[in-house]
Order: sequence, then C-alpha cells, then structure tokens
Amino acid sequence: MTAKIIDGKAIAADLRGKVADAVHRLSRDRGITPGLAVVLVGNNPASESYVASKIKMTAGSGMRSFDHRLPKETSGAELLGLIARLNADPTVHGILVQLPLPSQIDAHKIIAAVDPAKDVDGFNPVNAGRLSAGLPGLAPCTPLGCILLAKTVQPSLQGLETVVIGRSNIVGKPLAQLLLAENATVTVAHSKTRELPAVCRRADVLFAAVGRPELVRHDWVKPGATVIDVGVNRVTGAAGRPRIVGDVAFTEVAQIAGAITPVPGGAGPMTIACLLANTVRAACAIAGLREPAFGQRPSDDRE
Ligand code: NAD
Repeated sequence: MTAKIIDGKAIAADLRGKVADAVHRLSRDRGITPGLAVVLVGNNPASESYVASKIKMTAGSGMRSFDHRLPKETSGAELLGLIARLNADPTVHGILVQLPLPSQIDAHKIIAAVDPAKDVDGFNPVNAGRLSAGLPGLAPCTPLGCILLAKTVQPSLQGLETVVIGRSNIVGKPLAQLLLAENATVTVAHSKTRELPAVCRRADVLFAAVGRPELVRHDWVKPGATVIDVGVNRVTGAAGRPRIVGDVAFTEVAQIAGAITPVPGGAGPMTIACLLANTVRAACAIAGLREPAFGQRPSDDRE
C-alpha cells in the first residue's frame, strides 16, 4: 500500500475540540448555549444509529441536545407542527430532520419549513440557493467535511482538477458548489456519464458519492491523486458477516492513490463534526455575532 490514509476520525476529533472551545466561550462570554434539535420519525435502524451518535457528540461538545422521536405513522401536518415549534424556540439554534422520512411525508415540504437560519443540514432551498450564489449561509455537512479532508492533503484546491461522482442534493451538488468556491475546476459525473473511468482519471482530487460498493477501481485513479470516499454500503463479507464498504475499492486504489479516506473512519465522522460546527455558526448568526469559520469558509473568489 502506498497511499497516505486520511484519518477522518482524528481530523473530526480535532474539529470537535475546536467546536467545544467555541461553545465554552459562547456560553462563558455571551450566556448562549447552542442547542441542536434532532427529529427522528420511525425506527429505521441506520437512522437510529446516526441519530444516537449525533446526540452523544452534541452533548459531548457542551451543547444542548433536544431529541424528538415520532412514531412512523406521524403525518406531514404533525411534523410541520413540530418544526414550527422548534423554529420559534429560542433555545434551539439548529434543527435536523433525519432522512429518509416515511413515504406519507413529503420530505421537500418539511425541509422547506425549517427556518433557514436553523437549517444546520443546509438542505433548505434558501441555503442551497445561497451556496450556489456564493452568499453566506449554512452548507450541507458531508460536503463540508469532504472539503476539509481533501485540504489536509492539498491545503489549496485552487486550479486543481476535481471530479465528483454523484449529483444528489445532499452530497454531489453542494460539494461541487463548495469546490467551485475553492477555485477548483469541477466535473460532476453521474449515472449517465459516458467513459466514467476516463473522466475520473483526470482528477487530482476524486470524490465518490454514489452508493455503489467499490465502484471505483484502481485504473480509474490518476497516480498520486487524493481520493475521498463518501459511500456507505452494507455488504455481506467473509463468513456471511455484514460489513461496510465505500464506493471505492480501497485496497487496490490505495496502491495507486496519493491519499485516500477509509470507510468507515473517513467522511462519516467528519459529517457529524461539521454538523456541530454548523450549529455553533447558526447560534452565532442568530445572535448577530461573528461566526467562527472552523476552516470551512470558502474563498468566495468568483471572478
Ligand atoms: P443518491 O442515491 O441520492 O445519489 C447517488 C448519485 O450517484 C446519483 O446522483 C447518481 O446519478 C449517481 N450514480 C448512481 N449510480 C452511478 C453509477 N453507476 N455511475 C456513476 N454515478 C452513479 O445518494 P447520496 O445521498 O448522494 O449518497 C451517496 C453515498 O454516500 C451513499 O452510499 C450514502 O450512504 C453515502 N453518504 C454518506 C454520508 C456520510 O456521512 N458518510 C452522508 C451522506 C451520504
């Protein structure tokens, strides 16, 4: 193996430490304790586990955590009622509605109902538009984490060829916007892209956010490239044991890449750390205070 392994766990722990310091200062100097409300509808096991980690880390960083569990039969109107109460609650600075939602609820309506100032997931169309227009706002956590991971290897992404595989509203599209704001050259590939391996081989930094186990093979990667793997795929491993793999065939790609994130232990822990950072930023913005950047501020050099 030749690639440097990008230790997402350690980088996330470092960011959580900075968040905890900022929370401590806000509380000591301004009497503000940032609060994050997490809403989970139903009992999807993967969502339960994500929510449990988010709640634990929120409390661990000194913030208030508000846990709202609703039954899987909850109607859209009931959920909108809860969102309205959280929007109006001054102790809540961030609202996260865990996706996916049960099929009777229109997720777009719920996301649009979250106050953009408290939309720490950055999924509200107002924040998506702000990101796209290069205006300040809250950006989605997984893409923010991916940028921070890439920058541990390439401190400046300016002028680099970057390829993002995946164009979802949650990862691919906002990641492309953040990369543009970093002055990278950006290609967004997706399920209809022709010659995908050749497109990926152009990348100095390759991001995979697809949801296809080990799609990216060693001959898709330029020698020395940085590879950030966002995929979380549950597969059956040796002896029938369940195992999680990314969108990148880690062992073979690590032979050719310059640096690579593992799965688990790469993008996942960074997502939660960026959620905490977004909550502190939201609390500061709501209070009219200068927001800590946590190394996330893109350069916004858009000419
Ligand atoms: P999604 O299903 O919404 O989007 C997948 C994208 O991949 C689509 O844009 C599609 O066009 C593209 N795609 C599908 N098949 C393809 C193929 N064969 N070739 C090229 N492109 C293809 O998924 P998502 O929400 O963006 O998530 C992507 C992956 O990232 C999933 O594995 C998800 O579990 C993971 N994820 C991880 C985190 C984290 O915190 N680590 C957060 C969000 C998502």
